[in-house]
Amino acid sequence: MPDYVISPPPVTALPVATGGVFPVRRVYCIGRNYAAHAIEMGHDPDREAPFFFQKNPDNLDTSGTFPYPPHTRDVHHEVELSVVLKSGGKNISVDHAMDHVYGYALSLDMTRRDLQGQMKKAGRPWEIGKAFERSAPIGPIHKAENVGDLNAGAITLKVNGDLRQEGDLAQLIWKTPEMISYLSEYFELAAGDVIMTGTPSGVGPVVKGDVMDIATPALGTHRVTVV
Ligand code: MN
Repeated sequence: MPDYVISPPPVTALPVATGGVFPVRRVYCIGRNYAAHAIEMGHDPDREAPFFFQKNPDNLDTSGTFPYPPHTRDVHHEVELSVVLKSGGKNISVDHAMDHVYGYALSLDMTRRDLQGQMKKAGRPWEIGKAFERSAPIGPIHKAENVGDLNAGAITLKVNGDLRQEGDLAQLIWKTPEMISYLSEYFELAAGDVIMTGTPSGVGPVVKGDVMDIATPALGTHRVTVV
């Protein structure tokens, strides 16, 4: 045990559906990975190089509640499939990328859209809109060996029972192995990394009291209440 001069911060640990917890190292998020969402945000849906931003490991939250954050009046839901890695490396080929996948989870890239918009306009980083406390609600992790490679299947979000977001994992512009390969050219990936794979169209605001149900057939439903 090193001679820590303060107590070491806790490791973010995500429950695995079949038991145990998954320790988190980093969180990567891809932008504009479904054509219909790129269009709704005012961008060209043609396949250009992917871009990534990061959230903090301790922004992940498994409590089933999402506290309405400060300094915003426009918090949006973005349902996303998260891919979690059991190993990593640099310059991983597309063909070998899936060897590094431990499993999958349903997640939300909650976004202070008004602050993100201000930062975009000013050409500044997005963290203030994206990487705030508890900004990444996430459900249990399901092992790939149990659910297979999730490369197709509806992904949906309902607010208070009304369908707001609907896409299909088959519509991802950059597929999971391509995302892993691309990221590994720019960052050294490792066990514990979480990749949020982007949101389908239909993003929009929530208010306190709203109940969000995020779902995909292979992983079931995860419920998050705005408090
Ligand atoms: Mn997103």
